[in-house]
Amino acid sequence: MSGAADRAGAVLEIDLGAVAANWRMLRDRAAAASGAGCAAVVKADAYGLGIAEVGPALAAAGCRTFFVAHIDEGMTLRGLLPHAEIAVLNGLLPGTARVFREYRLLPVLNDLGQVDAWRDSGAGAAILQIDSGMNRLGLPRREVEALAAASPDRLGGVVLRTVMSHLACADEPEHPMNAAQRDAFAAACRILPPAPASLAASSGIFLGPDYHGDLVRPGAALYGVNPLPGRLNEMRQVVRLKGKILQVRDIDTGDAVGYGATHRRTRPGRIATVAVGYADGWLRSFSNSGSVVFDGHKLPLVGRVSMDLITIDVSSPEPAARVRPGDCVELLGDAYTVDDAAAEAGTIGYEILTSLGRRYHRSYVGRIGAETGAGHAA
Ligand SMILES: *Cc1c(COP(=O)(O)O)cnc(C)c1O
Repeated sequence: MSGAADRAGAVLEIDLGAVAANWRMLRDRAAAASGAGCAAVVKADAYGLGIAEVGPALAAAGCRTFFVAHIDEGMTLRGLLPHAEIAVLNGLLPGTARVFREYRLLPVLNDLGQVDAWRDSGAGAAILQIDSGMNRLGLPRREVEALAAASPDRLGGVVLRTVMSHLACADEPEHPMNAAQRDAFAAACRILPPAPASLAASSGIFLGPDYHGDLVRPGAALYGVNPLPGRLNEMRQVVRLKGKILQVRDIDTGDAVGYGATHRRTRPGRIATVAVGYADGWLRSFSNSGSVVFDGHKLPLVGRVSMDLITIDVSSPEPAARVRPGDCVELLGDAYTVDDAAAEAGTIGYEILTSLGRRYHRSYVGRIGAETGAGHAA
């Protein structure tokens, strides 16, 4: 009998227990440092790992507040979590107020026009986003002042559940933008009607308690990305990706490997071809620069990444040279993390995760109750 995992070119294992443990660690850290609560950011299908599994796992860990980017992501999450608070970061789009009400989604109001539109559509709870220096989303300073001067009338029945802002450089603790944004955000909060404040995402949590406000909003760290690049990663790895070897061949000095013949042999060796390519999100920028792990040994990806295939130099050490078709190499895991892969592809862990392909056979482990065989509590 052959199952889906046998037929797949690669198996992506997603550890929901690690996601839950990462969330609890950040929750406890924020609570101890500042008393802030902890939400979870699950936009982009929970950073590519699957909202249908990750959402309920985080709720089971105790998370009550979730952030998504798109309205449709919020609608999907509402179907999974009837009682959660769900906020939509990209905000209130024209003509969508009814959907926000029907699905009980909190709009993140990103400009004065959205404040007015939400008030005129019947108002209710919302989040207000202030731009504190990133110039991406949120009310600029002059709109904050206009709103403060016209409050409470201009807010009408709009209940500010949270006032939030976002840090541009939180992964660089020494960057002067951090304190500047913290102070700009505090100044905006002082003139607005009182509301709980939210500033820090994953990296911002580690900047210290005066960056926490009342609610922190981690995303990437929940999924194993190091919130402190260059320092020891305290987060547990969540994904493990294993690719299958399709063929192994001996090659000679002078032989070329892959499209463009960009890898030329300077001595004889062995090449293993693995069933993962850029159509699976294994970025083309891994060409001649990525790695895989076999039996504890890091082996180089040689030649270009093809749509469905990569080629690995398995010439040495000796255990690698014995690989056979059907064996698996590890493309992501504890020995070669999402951040390690990102560094070799010239990108960030966020992009590695959100690029993970749809052709992988996905296997979820570590569900709450799974170890005991007790199944789901609810
Ligand atoms: C994506 C996002 C987050 C989460 O950021 P991470 O760096 O993944 O923790 C938090 N807040 C806003 C506004 C975001 O866009």
